[in-house]
Amino acid sequence: MKNIELNSTYNLRRVVLIGMCTLLGCLSFLLGIINLSIAAKWITLGFIELFYALCSFTLAVLAVKRRHQFWQVILYIFALTVIVIYAVSLSKTIGSMICWVLVLPTVYYLLLGKKFANLPVIILFSAVVADIIGKYGFTVNPLLVNFIFSYLLIWAVSHIYEKNRANSEAKLQKLALQDPLTLSYNRLALTKYFENVGSKPSLQELDEELHLLILDIDFFKQVNDEYGHEAGDTVLQECAKIISRIAGDKQTFRIGGEEFCVMIENKKQDEAIALAQLIRTKLAQHTFRLAEQDNINITVSIGLSNYQPGMALPSLLRQADQRLYRAKHTGRNQVIYHNAPLAASA
Ligand code: GH3
Ligand code: MG
Ligand code: MG
Repeated sequence: MKNIELNSTYNLRRVVLIGMCTLLGCLSFLLGIINLSIAAKWITLGFIELFYALCSFTLAVLAVKRRHQFWQVILYIFALTVIVIYAVSLSKTIGSMICWVLVLPTVYYLLLGKKFANLPVIILFSAVVADIIGKYGFTVNPLLVNFIFSYLLIWAVSHIYEKNRANSEAKLQKLALQDPLTLSYNRLALTKYFENVGSKPSLQELDEELHLLILDIDFFKQVNDEYGHEAGDTVLQECAKIISRIAGDKQTFRIGGEEFCVMIENKKQDEAIALAQLIRTKLAQHTFRLAEQDNINITVSIGLSNYQPGMALPSLLRQADQRLYRAKHTGRNQVIYHNAPLAASA
């Protein structure tokens, strides 16, 4: 479970970035040398290309080490766009540089995603169309028509591909992280959540607190036995809604049959206990209306654990589980957060 890699966008962009930086780095290096040595009239372009080759190799190395930042990619793409526009504008006619113009929309979508790709696509398109009109006059010529339509086609295809890819990834993530019965997050989502929260420096420096509770419905088997499995499912779904309403959707996880887990961030211990008690009492007060006019009430037992710097998720869960076990064996319908049980109040 732990090794499932959910962020395929990051991996895809990283691989594309490494490949592109290496390829463009080699090409700009070669072109830079040629422009500086043979075509002496393009000395500025030659230096720009050599500088770009250096930037490309640097970014490729950073991406290999997974240390590249999104702003660096934006800057790199921006520089590439400016160089291509500059190179297109240098010659008196529209020459082979137009090939690069037609490749770039796909690169923008692959590296930046659909949210950020549109702007450079429009800038490049406008600049090249203006350049063609500047060179050939404001007439309908085959080059202009062919450029506009091929560019728009590549833009549309790239946009649709990226949109579908992003949607598929979102759906896959949802399938992987959500419990289909209650629509709460599942155990894998809890692992991912803890990976993010547990690595916060403020937690390690004790500026923030983190608590975790495990909640188990008392005598839930009896609900199934008496009212049927479907009724049991309804109870689970309603429980999930009530817990999420109190603790938050993103903090509520179904980690077992009739077991839920809640992450409580940035609350002092007495506030975390109060929240656990609130969940317990709200569930105890709720009347579950089942089919055929059956109304039932349930109670839950809760074990609450508190995070200590350096603690791994299994230890945090184990501590909560041990306290839950004590809650079960000392009367149920209570919250155990330490060694002393609280009296039930509902
Ligand atoms: P305790 O107070 O000790 O927790 O007793 P319990 O009956 O709740 O615990 P036990 O572990 O004996 O039973 C849990 C029951 O939860 C058994 C199982 O059929 C039921 N269960 C687990 N997953 C689901 C589910 O998805 N739907 C339904 N309806 N029942 C489920
Ligand atoms: Mg259980
Ligand atoms: Mg139970």
